[in-house]
Amino acid sequence: MLLAFFVPSVALSRLGRARKRALVDIGKTGPRDARQVLANGGIATLCAVGFAVTHDVFWTAAFAGAYAAATADTWATEIGTLAGRAPRSILTWRPVATGMSGGVTLAGTLAELAGALWIGLVALLAAVLALVIANGDFGLSFGYSLSFRAPSLTAVGLVVIAVVALGGVAGATADSLLGTTVQELRRCDACGRMCETDPHACGNPTRLVRGIRGLSNDVVNLLATAAGAAVSFGLAVLLA
Ligand SMILES: [Zn+2]
Repeated sequence: MLLAFFVPSVALSRLGRARKRALVDIGKTGPRDARQVLANGGIATLCAVGFAVTHDVFWTAAFAGAYAAATADTWATEIGTLAGRAPRSILTWRPVATGMSGGVTLAGTLAELAGALWIGLVALLAAVLALVIANGDFGLSFGYSLSFRAPSLTAVGLVVIAVVALGGVAGATADSLLGTTVQELRRCDACGRMCETDPHACGNPTRLVRGIRGLSNDVVNLLATAAGAAVSFGLAVLLA
């Protein structure tokens, strides 16, 4: 699951790096740092702990949902930035600067869906592998518990993918909504540009112009993965 998140994400963040470097407004175009890893993987780690403690299979759905949210958001940001079309605000539909939180593009939204489905597929493969190999503790995956109610194995597989992918889409949507409302939006007076970091990529300090102080992009990512985990957890409880 970790590899399924990091390998495509790192590859995407390297893709077209020169082009992205021109977009100096954004602080998040560089390689992912430790805080970003924690913001993206912290909730999933908690879900893994939840599963280890309770042996409750719904935590595996939550774990995958958190990763699906992080992956969907990362793919949307990277592809959306590369596609080069001017993004629009998810709330007001007004144009926003490329790479800014809350901006959506068609390419980015399709990439978001692809990222969520990708982790759904990986989760299904992991569940099948766990059933085949372990057939023990982890083998009691939520896919297995679903098989009592679903009419066929194919249906079980589709439900597993849907439970995870819907968590991913919900999380990525939460990310965009929070990003355009309560997340810190800052301004670098030296460049006269809006950005999300302090200091700006140019090195000058920035000031808060919108959002809640301290609610950085990393915090929003953490909340978004929590939303993804909660949705997948809830759907798994409902359907299992
Ligand atoms: Zn600046």
